[in-house]
Amino acid sequence: MIDDVNRHGVTIHDGAGGSLILILRRQVESVNMKRVLVASVVAVVSLAAQTRRSVSLVVTGGTVVTENATHAILSPGAVAIDGVDIIEVGSPAAIASKYQAAETIDARDQVVLPGLINTHTHAPMVMYRGLADDLALRQWLEQYIFPAEAKTVSPELVRVGTRLAAVEMIESGTTTFVDMYYFEEEIARVAFEAGLRGVLGQTIIQFPVADAKTPADALARAETFIKEFKDNGLVVPAVAPHALYTNDQTTLLAAAALGRKYGAPVIIHFSETEDEIQMARDQYKMTPGAYLESIAFWGPKTLAAHGVWVTDDDIAILKRHAVGVAHNPESNMKLASGAAPISRYLSAGVAVGLGTDGAASNNDLDMFEAMRQASFLAKLSTRDPTAVPAQTALDMATIGGARALQMDRLIGSLEAGKRADLIVVSMSAARQTPMYDPVSHLVYATRGDDVRTTIVNGKVLMKDRRLRTIDRAAAIAEANRLASKVRAAVGR
Ligand SMILES: [Zn+2]
Repeated sequence: MIDDVNRHGVTIHDGAGGSLILILRRQVESVNMKRVLVASVVAVVSLAAQTRRSVSLVVTGGTVVTENATHAILSPGAVAIDGVDIIEVGSPAAIASKYQAAETIDARDQVVLPGLINTHTHAPMVMYRGLADDLALRQWLEQYIFPAEAKTVSPELVRVGTRLAAVEMIESGTTTFVDMYYFEEEIARVAFEAGLRGVLGQTIIQFPVADAKTPADALARAETFIKEFKDNGLVVPAVAPHALYTNDQTTLLAAAALGRKYGAPVIIHFSETEDEIQMARDQYKMTPGAYLESIAFWGPKTLAAHGVWVTDDDIAILKRHAVGVAHNPESNMKLASGAAPISRYLSAGVAVGLGTDGAASNNDLDMFEAMRQASFLAKLSTRDPTAVPAQTALDMATIGGARALQMDRLIGSLEAGKRADLIVVSMSAARQTPMYDPVSHLVYATRGDDVRTTIVNGKVLMKDRRLRTIDRAAAIAEANRLASKVRAAVGR
C-alpha cells in the first residue's frame, strides 16, 4: 500500500505536484499511518484529475477504425477532440487519464470512423429526385433535367434543396461534400449554417442558365463567390466548368485560370459516357483526357467526376497532372453510363474518391450504399471478385476522397492534428450481427440510417439521431412545399 502511494507519487512530477508528494511521503512515515494513507490516496487521485487537459469532446468506447496509413483499428478506442482538431486517438483508459472532456459521447457497441467524403454531388438536385428515371444521360439531361432547371432553379430552390440534402448527408454520415451547381453561394451559406464541410463549385456552362446568361457572367459569379468564401473554415470555394461537351475551349481555359489565380479547386464532369468520347474524337481527334491536356486545362487541384471511359493513356495523363477522380458507381449504373476502371486507376496511383452524384440520378445521398455499389460494380464489370475489396471501398469514401481533393493533410482519417470530422455508427442491427470484421460490415451490411452521431470540425451536428444544427421537420416541410412549384412547372 505504501509502495503504491509512493509509486503514484513518483509518477506525478510536474508543476506544483512535487512539493505535495514530499508532504505525502513525510505523512506516510508518521505514526497515524491508516488515516494519512486514505488522505494521501484521495490527494493523489484529485491531483491526477487536476493535471488532465481540458478538451471539448471525447468519443470513447467504440471500435475506432482510424483509416490511418496502417489501417489501425482500436477496439475499444477513444478520440479526444479540442476545438476543431483531433488531439489524440488511443485506448479509452489512456484518453481518460489524460483528458477531461466538456462533452463525452459513449460509443460502446458502435464503430467510430472518419466522416464520409462525398466527392461528387449536386445537393439541390434532391428537389428533382424521382422526377425522371430510367433514361440515358443525354436524354435525361436534355429532355428532363435541363428544362426542369430552366423553369425552377432559383436561390430559394437551391437553399431549400441544400437544406434537405444537408439533413440527408448528416443523417447518413457524410461530413464533407463536393458540389457543383448554380447559385453556389446559397449552397455555401446553408452548408456553413448546417456545419458541413464543402468543396463547392460554381457552375460554368456555355448556355444561359438561371444564375448566368453567359459563360462570362458565370465566371464573374464564380470569382465573386471564391473571394467571399476563400477564408472560410468549412467551405472551400471552387470553380466548376460543367463538362467538355457543355463548354468551349475559351470558357474551359478561363475557368482553369480562375482556379489557378486563387488556388481554388476546379471540378469537371469527365469522360462520363461513350457519347462524350465520340464527340471528342469527332471534334478534336483525341480523347477528352488528351484534349484537355493539349489545351493545358489540367492542374493539380482538378477533380474529374466519373472518368468512366478512359484509356491507359488518359489514366497516365490524370496521374501526371495529379488530377483526382470522383467515382459515382450508382449514377453510372442507373444511367447505364458504364463502369469506371477503378482498379486500373488505383494501380496507376491516381487518387480516387467516391461520390453519389446528384440525387436525381442515384436517387439518394447515402455514401454507405455508394461504397457497397463501388465494390459490387468493380467485381461485376471485371468478373473478378477480388476487385475493390471492402477496405478499398472504405478507403475511397474516406482517405481516398481526401487525397483526390488534396485535403488529406486535414481530413480523411482519425489522427492527431487532423480536423475532427468523424461519425459513430450503430452495429447492433440483426443484419450486422455477428460482427467479425468492422470494415466488412461498414461496406457490406451497414446503411446510412445506422449512423448515430455526426461530428464536423469538432462540432456535434447530430447526436443519437437528433440533429443539432438543422430543424429537420421544417427542412422537409419546406421541400415539400417547394415541390409543388416544381411539379407545376414540369407538368407532373
Ligand atoms: Zn454530376
